Amino acid sequence: MSATDGGVLRVTKIVNNGPDTERWNLVIIGDGYRHCELVKYHDHAKKFVDRLQSTAPFGEMFDGINVHRIDVVSDESGADDPGCAGGPVVTRKTYFDATFCSPHNGHLIDRLLTVDNALALSVAKTHVSQNHHVVCIVNSTKYGGSGGSIAVCSVHALSRKIAIHELGHSAFGLADEYGGNGLDTPAGEPPKPNVTRDTNSATNKWGALVAVGTPMPTQCNPGCVGSGCVAPGAPPAPGAVGTYEGALWSDCGIYRPMEACYMNSYDPFCPVCAGVIRDTLQAFMP
Ligand SMILES: [Zn+2]
Repeated sequence: MSATDGGVLRVTKIVNNGPDTERWNLVIIGDGYRHCELVKYHDHAKKFVDRLQSTAPFGEMFDGINVHRIDVVSDESGADDPGCAGGPVVTRKTYFDATFCSPHNGHLIDRLLTVDNALALSVAKTHVSQNHHVVCIVNSTKYGGSGGSIAVCSVHALSRKIAIHELGHSAFGLADEYGGNGLDTPAGEPPKPNVTRDTNSATNKWGALVAVGTPMPTQCNPGCVGSGCVAPGAPPAPGAVGTYEGALWSDCGIYRPMEACYMNSYDPFCPVCAGVIRDTLQAFMP
């Protein structure tokens, strides 16, 4: 439930590509791991790093990345689960107070797994002063995660993918590219680099990546009457960068760069998102 429910043991640099002052430093912390589960935590941390390295464009930028693993023990295993979706109420004494059913825009969301961000950032900063980003792995097999000032994920089978998706939010400022009912979608042009309401290739923020001949908008969602999307006469070339209707939690009137992307469906990062990640990490390459 809080920092009185465990302790911080040590930090280990598990990927060392040079001085911390010159690299992009990722810090991994764990919550809900008892002392006897640290070997399992180390395995979970390694699997996350392996997944990150095999996800483009991180592999080609890996020489610019250090990874630090902080061993934190909790008195109890797992995470709090207030049971907002009707399941049993579970309470666990963990160092960073991981919990499912966290609030978002006034609703409790079962899969929204959060930790005490201020405490997590403080522990990361204390042990890795040059840290650029923090991922917290929570020792629960229930599906869940969150972005924000740090990325949080559970150890569900999809967890490492959740963590990389959340890292896209937390470390690289990318927006969700999936649609929805639009209730939580802000009005106007979103500032994020990978979603837009602008389907004019001359002014679109990723227009430089749109090939001549790709229709704009590139694809409209059926059922979006009045969204302003005018469907092209012919479908785009497979994998073409353009403007596909449905992004930032709205199915209509807002667009993503490609049909599929890690910020949408855990498919490979689209060229727009990959470009943002590359540009950010370029400054840390040897
Ligand atoms: Zn994308």
